[in-house]
Amino acid sequence: MRYLSTRGHTDRKQFCEILLEGLAPDGGLYLPESYPQIDAAALTRLRGVWQSQGYADLAFEVLSLYIDDIPASDLQALCRKTYTAEVFGTPEIVPLKPLKAVGQAQPDMYLEALSNGPTLAFKDMAMQLLGNLFEYELARRGEALNIFGATSGDTGSAAEYAMRGKKGVRVFMTSPNGRMSPFQQAQMFSLLDENIHNIAIEGVFDDCQDIVKAVSNDLDFKRKYKIGTVNSINWARLLAQVVYYFAGYFQATQSNEQKVSFTVPSGNFGNVCAGHVARMMGLPIDRLVVATNENDVLDEFFRTGIYRVRGTADTHETSSPSMDISKASNFERFVFDLLERDAAKTKAIFGEGLSTQGFFDLSADARFAQAATTYGFDSGRSTHADRLKTIQQVFASYGLMIDTHTADGVKVAKEHLTPQVPMIVLETALPIKFAATIVEALGRQPDRPPQFEGIEALPKRVQVMAADVDLIKAYITEHCD
Ligand SMILES: *Cc1c(COP(=O)(O)O)cnc(C)c1O
Repeated sequence: MRYLSTRGHTDRKQFCEILLEGLAPDGGLYLPESYPQIDAAALTRLRGVWQSQGYADLAFEVLSLYIDDIPASDLQALCRKTYTAEVFGTPEIVPLKPLKAVGQAQPDMYLEALSNGPTLAFKDMAMQLLGNLFEYELARRGEALNIFGATSGDTGSAAEYAMRGKKGVRVFMTSPNGRMSPFQQAQMFSLLDENIHNIAIEGVFDDCQDIVKAVSNDLDFKRKYKIGTVNSINWARLLAQVVYYFAGYFQATQSNEQKVSFTVPSGNFGNVCAGHVARMMGLPIDRLVVATNENDVLDEFFRTGIYRVRGTADTHETSSPSMDISKASNFERFVFDLLERDAAKTKAIFGEGLSTQGFFDLSADARFAQAATTYGFDSGRSTHADRLKTIQQVFASYGLMIDTHTADGVKVAKEHLTPQVPMIVLETALPIKFAATIVEALGRQPDRPPQFEGIEALPKRVQVMAADVDLIKAYITEHCD
């Protein structure tokens, strides 16, 4: 399997080459040259693997189709080390929870539980594998890597919990001082591992991102200190997410004749892009429903064909903050496929087009209609009032407490139900991470998994610093050998 860039660069790369890279050299995103096809016999075999061997081996089978530069036995060992009941809370790793009231014959829909990993958000599903892949590949090369990033909450903690104690890897994670939820701060800052560095910046999230950009643009510094990232455009992260679409499908169906639909709470389009990849491989997915919050860049595109990025001033701060994006960094991958892999056109609209005009318009392009027809996409939008109502309804009808992002998914899923086609909503976080809104909706505190009892009182390790690139570079220099 070789990987190409969505913007037409002539290089073709292997999996381990792009594992430690971000963007392709021409600014595009990496995609496989073609999607491996799962025919009926292969699907039956994978269902058997899921049923008799479980999630880790299913992951190994799916990943093997895309990774041919890690020996099979090593890849299988990495998957088995990653996806354990100990780390992910249940033997199923991603169990389905039916939304079914007492006395009801068929569930209205299902939640696929992706949030029982170490940081209680679905990003653990991919990041835990990435940590093990990084450690493996760096050891093989005899190299080290310093991950430098910015977080407003979920990504940074998932990265730190995945990389803690890993040989050859250090993490320097900036976050806006005092702006994450108390639970998120406690999660990140209570990590005392030597290779984890929390830097709380006196500023907002955009200041953190600006610093990361400034450091990444200093190519000498970047090379000298082996700076890398783990953001959501990393192909390995996306690939790891493809697996749970298969696991969700096998749990909701008895035979390969059946189809399912997925609704995915979306921000950077990483999670739902993995669903697109699974569907392109031939997994019988009917609809892929993109759910957004008030930051509805993606919903607008699927309704109108116009993709209009927002300025920071137009980006709403919402109660589903992990979906507060102005520009969906993974969206280029889908548009490349939609445009029948026309790299020149992709480059024109995402490169020059977006940076000069701030939008592109495919409404007059005949291929836009195929987003819904050929590729199965639908979309919808949810607001703070919808979230409160949905959290209340789900609690009252099914006795289940859901988080604010999952609530956006359930709200939009209800608008896209089809008889006979099970609807699976991806549960992207647990309610405890966003307690304030749960209290607003239900008048009570969310349940807290026992291992998180009292984490706010643990000792913290965090360096508060001014939003000054030179100071932060000095800090990194001082803490690398
Ligand atoms: C990251 C995140 C999302 C958005 O996922 P994308 O891959 O960026 O679309 C949704 N919900 C939660 C809880 C998240 O942490």
